[in-house]
Amino acid sequence: MEPDACLPRAASVMSTTPAERDVLVLLDIDGTLLTTDGAGREAFAVAIRAVFGWEDDLEWVSFAGATDLGLLHRICRRHGWRPTRLEVAMFFERMERELAARLTRRRVRVLPGARRFLAGLRRRSDVAVALLTGNSRGGARIKLERAALDLDVRRGAFGDELANRARLARMALRREGGLRRWRAVWVVGDTPADVAAAKAIGARSLAVATGHHPIAELCGTGATLAVDRLSDVADLAFLE
Ligand SMILES: [Mg+2]
Repeated sequence: MEPDACLPRAASVMSTTPAERDVLVLLDIDGTLLTTDGAGREAFAVAIRAVFGWEDDLEWVSFAGATDLGLLHRICRRHGWRPTRLEVAMFFERMERELAARLTRRRVRVLPGARRFLAGLRRRSDVAVALLTGNSRGGARIKLERAALDLDVRRGAFGDELANRARLARMALRREGGLRRWRAVWVVGDTPADVAAAKAIGARSLAVATGHHPIAELCGTGATLAVDRLSDVADLAFLE
């Protein structure tokens, strides 16, 4: 199937050395590679109750495109509280424990084409992959392990490090040597926030409509490319 491309950019022919042709792909997790059937929100709510004592089902807050630290700050603001560093640390420790307990293999669903897409990236010696996710590093590890997706959680930037996704993208790119180190940098994600983060760091964006945002909305964000599912681009032709 042909992907629904929006604002397509013509691929340019490279006449550079192999090192300059390297591509960096920064990958989101939730809504892009997998879904967790609400286990993340449950873990958040239980940890909020355990650490701060607030009964809150968190149904009022959208998790899509947010970072875990950003969510925590938002929840605390709503309850009129400024968390201490210790409380933040306690929250993440508890939230990850609750997530591990709740996230059975049955609750994790790998999204269409995600395995094939990742396998394709792995086969490409000119492509490097790092994570750019709103999940805490521990949360990312738990989700990827349960989904049996082989991605390195030592590489990338994570939602317990910074609250702002665009700044998180900058951190991930800095850790990978910066924009000029790469022939092309792609951010792959399922929300307008992923596309905005890509723009903020001068990267291209592949938006995939397997999360909560339909393809028409993602196209409207000015994504370099938007597709219904990763299986539409599993041949990785867009990287050329
Ligand atoms: Mg996402």
